[in-house]
Amino acid sequence: MSSSNFTNELVWVVSDFLQDHLNSNNLNYLSAEACAALLAKEGILLNDVGPKPGFNFRQMLRDGRDGFIDLVEGAIQEKPHTRWIIYKKTRSIKHLELDLLENGLDFILSSLMPILEQKNKNDLKYSLLHISAGTELVLKEILKNKHWSLIFEKIDIANSIDLQSGDFQSVSFENIIKRLKNIAEIQIHPKALNYFKEIRKKRNRIEHFAFTENDKAIISLVSKVLFYLIELIKEHIEIKESSAKSQTYYKEIIQQSSNFEEYTNLALSKLKPNLDKLRNANVILVECPECYRQTLPLDGNHKCIFCGTSYESEDLANQYIENVLGINKYISIKDGGDFPLEECPACDRETLVLMADLYLCFACVEKWQRYELDHCNYCNRAYLPKESNIGMCNDCRDSRANSFMDN
Ligand SMILES: [Zn+2]
Ligand SMILES: [Zn+2]
Ligand SMILES: [Zn+2]
Repeated sequence: MSSSNFTNELVWVVSDFLQDHLNSNNLNYLSAEACAALLAKEGILLNDVGPKPGFNFRQMLRDGRDGFIDLVEGAIQEKPHTRWIIYKKTRSIKHLELDLLENGLDFILSSLMPILEQKNKNDLKYSLLHISAGTELVLKEILKNKHWSLIFEKIDIANSIDLQSGDFQSVSFENIIKRLKNIAEIQIHPKALNYFKEIRKKRNRIEHFAFTENDKAIISLVSKVLFYLIELIKEHIEIKESSAKSQTYYKEIIQQSSNFEEYTNLALSKLKPNLDKLRNANVILVECPECYRQTLPLDGNHKCIFCGTSYESEDLANQYIENVLGINKYISIKDGGDFPLEECPACDRETLVLMADLYLCFACVEKWQRYELDHCNYCNRAYLPKESNIGMCNDCRDSRANSFMDN
């Protein structure tokens, strides 16, 4: 049986030291190599064991990952054999009462830097990680303002002692959303909800898989999330009443967000001649399920001119419904609801999307008002009633006619 040369006690000392260091130096993360050097300097962990510097600390991380000891707090590895990052934990441990908003705003601010500075493409993943963490904290803060017990996953065992110590299981993202709506009676714009969920989906992909997201799509999604976060903060948080740090962070976020706006406006204005050409040619532009800009021409190539993502018609129809309309296929099937995707009566592909009162085919780009199509009583496919007024599509009518003749 394998085991570790490290004890849990040592892991805890290492965790405490690193988290303190991150907090007091106002850093959001450190590389494993930087941590190893710091730990050696403090005399906590040797750094000259193994083939090269950093090896000893990474062994501690690997042992934690593999379950032989506790994992160093805040440690994340994207996938085996890649680098480790040690994140500042959103300190639930101490001063949670004050830190929620500060931490949230800090995360949001640090998510904008990699995008605006554009130094290293690889940093974009931190934008996703940080804006996701920031979103969750800001939403929690709003919930906490309603009543502090709402940030406990189990409200019935909430108590102020655990709140002070931070020693409790805090509310999950799904429940934050439910409680905001049902208890705090706060309406979150459905688009905002979509973006928040999408950011979390992408974040989970980063933590568990290789990172292959498209830059412009990330930047665009982050800017959308940012827009709605600022709206929520304006409406539901008294920034003037918050700590001096929070106020400073907030001001900076507002400033940076206008740079962001400029960035996206600039990118869009560069595309304008292209967009105009498409519009003049009567090409339909739909919202791209990756970058959420209305820059995806349904012209057969289905390639978004803002973020460059291209789609097959069937995939596009599905992703559009999931991401843009915010309807989850699994949930709608499970709950017996309708997933608004059907077979197109013109091209027979499963690409006919019902958006409000309009049917639009993402393959042949035919469109109909909802009332213009009927559903066949026999095969349930959509058809144009002018083809037949006997509650049956042409195919069903023909095959019935044939079977009569055969008999
Ligand atoms: Zn796009
Ligand atoms: Zn079609
Ligand atoms: Zn039929």
